[in-house]
Amino acid sequence: MQTFEHLVIGAGLMGSAAARYLSQQSQSVALLGPDEPADQTTHPGVFASHYDEGRLTRQISRDPVWSALARLAIAQYRPLETASGIPFYNPVGMLVVDSDRMTSHMKADLTWARDMHLDFNFYPEGDTTWQTLFPAYHFPSDYWVLHEPAPAGMINPRAMLRAQLAVAEQQGTARLRDIARDVEPRADGVLVTTQSGEQLHAQKVIIAAGAFSHLFNLLPPVGLYAETETIILGEVDEPTAHAHANLPTLIYFVDDPEIDDIYLTPPVRYPDGRYYIKMGANTKSDQFPQTLEEVQTWFRTGDSDTHKPAFERALQTILPGIPFHAFYTKRCILSRTPSGRPIVDQISDRVFVATGGNGEGAKSSDALGRLVAGLVLGWEWPVEIPRDAFKVRS
Ligand SMILES: Cc1cc2nc3c(=O)[nH]c(=O)nc-3n(C[C@H](O)[C@H](O)[C@H](O)COP(=O)(O)OP(=O)(O)OC[C@H]3O[C@@H](n4cnc5c(N)ncnc54)[C@H](O)[C@@H]3O)c2cc1C
Repeated sequence: MQTFEHLVIGAGLMGSAAARYLSQQSQSVALLGPDEPADQTTHPGVFASHYDEGRLTRQISRDPVWSALARLAIAQYRPLETASGIPFYNPVGMLVVDSDRMTSHMKADLTWARDMHLDFNFYPEGDTTWQTLFPAYHFPSDYWVLHEPAPAGMINPRAMLRAQLAVAEQQGTARLRDIARDVEPRADGVLVTTQSGEQLHAQKVIIAAGAFSHLFNLLPPVGLYAETETIILGEVDEPTAHAHANLPTLIYFVDDPEIDDIYLTPPVRYPDGRYYIKMGANTKSDQFPQTLEEVQTWFRTGDSDTHKPAFERALQTILPGIPFHAFYTKRCILSRTPSGRPIVDQISDRVFVATGGNGEGAKSSDALGRLVAGLVLGWEWPVEIPRDAFKVRS
């Protein structure tokens, strides 16, 4: 049996950050979890929410808790890039675009953003001067546009994960590429049994298995649930990709009968060597898979093409001048909590949890990893983050 002082379950965005922070202080850290599968359609194991090249990052949020988390996390992007030698951050800024229906919320948000000295430019409905700055974008003229400049922008979640893992491993973290099936707290430590039948023993364990955190015998019920998510990749040629590399990221409350809450990242090169603009959205067909088998079936063979025409139509309407060569949909998963905020908490004497990204966890994953590592190591909780917001609610 291998023994460790600290064991993190889940080599995703939060788990890798937790391992990096733990291994700054602890001499005995292990990170348990598989790599991204080579072929999703035949993969027999677990999946993750970070299999992509683009995630939005921003400071302004409707929820001040997410905003405070993002500010902590964004401050660490450049130091992490430097420490790892792996770039993952492009501060291209961001647009939020909506119609009249959100104006009262937005006014409150902007007052709050002003109070927090966060930089932004607001273009009310009818004011189209934003078009001279971002001519590639097109929105209906009765929509307002909020521009949040850098440090808002984009991170590459796969590259950020590589960066976290590189530093964690430099600091001595052991990587174990297996799947945890059972977590058993005992008087002298925690016994973790893996899918391959190995037993691991640790003094303290962090569970950071994303949308899978509640699908094995890892945690007592913490209110976590999974939701399917669909994205479309619009392929562009290399000159177009370079020409639009600094397109701000976008959140757009589109008026469409099939899809809503659009988000978009500028063109980047994907592992197949091609360039894509990524757009995601909520759809009328999003599901809430409850078992491991249901989540696996979604990733392997789920129908992500139901709303493909609506996705294509929206993407071409938002970016009318961009020549798209092809469109592909992809399946993903979100881990949600009833509060809409992440869970970072101590479950029992020796077991801790960090999960519940709620579709916003990538940008703040470094801060969430730091918070849970701090709980384990007894660090002071940062004053700017309300502790109660992250507790498990029964
Ligand atoms: C389509 C899409 C778009 C998104 N857009 C944004 C965005 O623009 N901005 C943003 O901030 N966030 C965004 N998110 C959310 C963000 O990606 C997630 O919140 C984030 O990845 C959560 O990190 P995590 O570490 O909790 O989970 P994950 O990144 O999913 O990592 C969990 C890890 O646990 C491992 N694992 C699972 N079960 C086990 C087990 N039993 N044993 C061992 N390991 C296990 C998995 O293999 C995985 O590596 C988006 C998510 C999706 C799906």
